[in-house]
Amino acid sequence: MVERRILVTGGAGFIGSHLVARLLEQGHQVLVVDNYYSGSRSNLAHLISDPNLEIMRHDVTFPLYVEVDEIYHLACPASPVFYQRDPVQTTKTSVMGSINMLGLAKRTKAKILLSSTSEVYGDPEVHPQEESYWGHVNPIGIRSCYDEGKRCAETLFFDYRRQHDMPIKVARIFNTYGPGMRPDDGRVVSNFIVSALSGRPLTVYGDGSQTRSFCYVDDLVDGLMRLMATPHEVTGPINIGNPHEFTMKELADKVIDLVGGDATVEYHPLPSDDPTQRQPNITRAREILDWKPTVELAEGLAATIDFFRKQLTTG
Ligand code: NAD
Ligand code: UDP
Ligand code: UDP
Repeated sequence: MVERRILVTGGAGFIGSHLVARLLEQGHQVLVVDNYYSGSRSNLAHLISDPNLEIMRHDVTFPLYVEVDEIYHLACPASPVFYQRDPVQTTKTSVMGSINMLGLAKRTKAKILLSSTSEVYGDPEVHPQEESYWGHVNPIGIRSCYDEGKRCAETLFFDYRRQHDMPIKVARIFNTYGPGMRPDDGRVVSNFIVSALSGRPLTVYGDGSQTRSFCYVDDLVDGLMRLMATPHEVTGPINIGNPHEFTMKELADKVIDLVGGDATVEYHPLPSDDPTQRQPNITRAREILDWKPTVELAEGLAATIDFFRKQLTTG
């Protein structure tokens, strides 16, 4: 394997830190760029002694001049609580951040991968979602900073491709979970597990009949790395996610079952524009990347519960 200089923006975040660990394992030089908006240096603490890792505090909405061969552009808050906290910054990060990273990729002739999202499908009227579906997105709602920001980032990636024939890769990531999630980022898996472990009621929004399909982080990272390794003609977009779909009430019951104890469920209002259903069609990922998820929900949840149990006991 040829050693490469790889930039990971958002590398101090949940998915980024797992990706960085895998890239270092393969012997690459990894430069992490992160402004710690929703990520943390502690996510990389176990890797810090690796001489191939360099970490730079930098906001991708500002230009960046470094020399690299590949760019995984992940920088962007991903949980509704974080991306809605400063929505203008969220759009700036997606749009200006993508322009800067595409400019960098153009100058250095680096391959560049965007971590887009299933949110580009909005509250989908086509189910399961395949890549050819254009989506059903509210342009002025509380999720729009994230959804429209990522849609514009995808537009920029494809326009740089059309104008400059650049090697771009667009991954549409579906809900991802695993060890390393923040206990306080408000996502459903972390919320449910932390509540169950603390003996508090699990907060189900709405009646809990909305569905999601969760992918374990190791599978997801494997999919991203396979996409980066594809030849020039492969651009995506490619869905990367686990098609196993379930309701949020089913997820609550599963978490209670796995954690043990007698946690209860409490119902809260459904946030606006919350998608009612979501499941990836992963035919393209299977065919083009020879990829499919391998970690079952129960196994992935058990590993995530272990992680949070240790966190809660060690503080
Ligand atoms: P995360 O919030 O843990 O990581 C994002 C990282 O980007 C953080 O470390 C944050 O500090 C950093 N960041 C944010 N704005 C920045 C800026 N302006 N400059 C530099 N760094 C900045 O989220 P994650 O779950 O690891 O998500 C990573 C990527 O994957 C995001 O682009 C997200 O949109 C995408 N994604 C994630 C999921 C999921 O379920 N986790 C689903 C779909 C897409
Ligand atoms: N850019 C960067 N690093 C680079 C090259 C470019 O951050 O190594 C940024 C710079 O801010 C520029 C943007 O990327 O405005 C887009 O670059 P591009 O070359 O596409 O367009 P320009 O704005 O330079 O005409
Ligand atoms: N959700 C919930 N309880 C929580 C947090 C989230 O019922 O404590 C619901 C939320 O309304 C959504 C689903 O779980 O329908 C997934 O939420 P998350 O924020 O994890 O991801 P996203 O909505 O971005 O897919």
